[in-house]
Amino acid sequence: MADVLEIRPQESAEENAQQMTDGFHLVIDALKANDIDTIFGLVGIPITDLARLAQAEGMRFIGFRHEQHAGNAAAIAGYMTQKPGICLTVSAPGFLNGLTALANATTNCFPMILISGSSEREIVDLQQGDYEEMDQLNAAKPYAKAAYRVLHAEDIGIGVARAIRAAVSGRPGGVYLDLPAKLLSQTIDAVKAKQSLVRVIDAAPRQLPAPDSVKRAIDLLKGAKRPLVLLGKGAAYSQADKEIRAFIEKTGIPYLPMSMAKGLLPDTHEQSASAARSFVLAESDVVVLVGARLNWLLSHGKGKTWGKPKQFVQIDISAQEMDSNVAIAAPIVGDIGSCVASLLDQVGDNFPQPPKEWLDAVNEKKNKNLEKMAATLAKSPSPMNFHSALRVLRDIVKQNPDINVVNEGANTLDYARAIIDMYQPRKRFDSGTWGVMGIGMGFAIGAAVTSGKQVLAIEGDSAFGFSGMELETICRYQLPVCTVIFNNNGVYRGTDVNPTGGKDVAPTVFVKDARYDKMIEAFGGIGYNVTTPEELEKALKEAIASGKPTLINAVIDEAAGTESGRLTNLNPQSAAMKK
Ligand code: ADP
Repeated sequence: MADVLEIRPQESAEENAQQMTDGFHLVIDALKANDIDTIFGLVGIPITDLARLAQAEGMRFIGFRHEQHAGNAAAIAGYMTQKPGICLTVSAPGFLNGLTALANATTNCFPMILISGSSEREIVDLQQGDYEEMDQLNAAKPYAKAAYRVLHAEDIGIGVARAIRAAVSGRPGGVYLDLPAKLLSQTIDAVKAKQSLVRVIDAAPRQLPAPDSVKRAIDLLKGAKRPLVLLGKGAAYSQADKEIRAFIEKTGIPYLPMSMAKGLLPDTHEQSASAARSFVLAESDVVVLVGARLNWLLSHGKGKTWGKPKQFVQIDISAQEMDSNVAIAAPIVGDIGSCVASLLDQVGDNFPQPPKEWLDAVNEKKNKNLEKMAATLAKSPSPMNFHSALRVLRDIVKQNPDINVVNEGANTLDYARAIIDMYQPRKRFDSGTWGVMGIGMGFAIGAAVTSGKQVLAIEGDSAFGFSGMELETICRYQLPVCTVIFNNNGVYRGTDVNPTGGKDVAPTVFVKDARYDKMIEAFGGIGYNVTTPEELEKALKEAIASGKPTLINAVIDEAAGTESGRLTNLNPQSAAMKK
């Protein structure tokens, strides 16, 4: 931290007695003092100079076309690195656009900081009608893990430190930092400014589990007849990859990864029970949740999905998460690395392996389902459908195991998650806890910038629409992102008709035979239009070898796709419409 702040002389020689700096410089110095080197954002009043200065001071500023995508890029960068991703926006509408991403980050436990410029307090608080007037701090509070405002330049250092610690400590989340325009231009004595900087020490301290909680879990596991481990994205985030793998392999327990935990162990691992998901959820008797919440994605831990009665061990950094949906028999509260290491200490080398009948039953189910899937994937219908196209993508990911996969859509998400095996941790980024659309290009840019590696964004045509303009951003920064659009002419599919016979198309239908590949060509990227698995494979190989911005418009059967994908149960339909 010692040399991060240069002393900047004032321009006017007469006032040179004291060397001064200002809020703009201090914000950048405070971020750099904490090794933050990238800002995702969109410039405008009052933060344009902040972005310019960040770049001039050696940080990377990645400029977007819409703040939501800058925010999503920051959030995924936070998830990949355990350092808060930074999103910078203008006031009111820019802030609100960014807030969607901040709320999504908080919901998903991704660490990020949304920094927005804001109007003057005196005018906002008296509601006197300032330019882009808005009480942003209070608007952010319900959707953020924490929200702070800095009013004095000498507090910038502590404000940034507080935001960083809040974002990454305990359960990670989104933090809002409000910087009024006046703060940025405030001047301050440079020596005092330098002294006000704070480098956060041990931003996310280890949280060791209580030994009796570990023992309770081990006792429960020892008595289990049909144990199962469920890995969530908290487990992937924790970067305790080795410990988690050792725990699974030493106990011999079958495991299921949630979608973003795929690849924490390779999906081809012999203990993976993914292909027998419904069976193991229903039949298991003791389930160890590692960084996974029993929310809607897991049917709240009850009902038909969970079948037979069971007991849960839950490992989570948030004590409050325990008993959120069902009773947790053995809660272990702490950071996943420490918790799994403590469990491993108890497991040793001679832990009783799960009964053979259980492992045989899981394997039998798994092999049957894998065979069924292989038969479906082997078909090559014309026109191409989700399965025949995804077979090609599956093989490409297998050949390029360090590729980053971004995935959103309804059917495109459901099928891709099930069909594409992942081989490395933190390589799959998707719709997450909200099951949201619109993360596509933001996550793709965040992943490409953070890893410097190839990204494959697998998008439904509807999902892509939310962030499609960021193709220009991808081309501007020449990012190695290959976007594949599963184009079936509409939301879910393109075959719905307007029952009145009127001139408007049905609510789910898009322009027929749209050429999304032409969009990327407008910005100098390379577009492909493909209609068969062979063409798709050729285009994909070429696209990935080029390392350039590319987009493949994959035309699939417009009748392929079901309403709401696998979430049909969440989509109430009127009885009249069903007729
Ligand atoms: P998924 O959607 O994959 O099931 P969730 O987002 O529901 O995963 O769950 C992630 C959980 O992981 C959250 O409850 C969060 O508190 C927890 N978590 C995140 N990071 C850590 C960590 N380092 N140690 C322990 N728990 C963590």
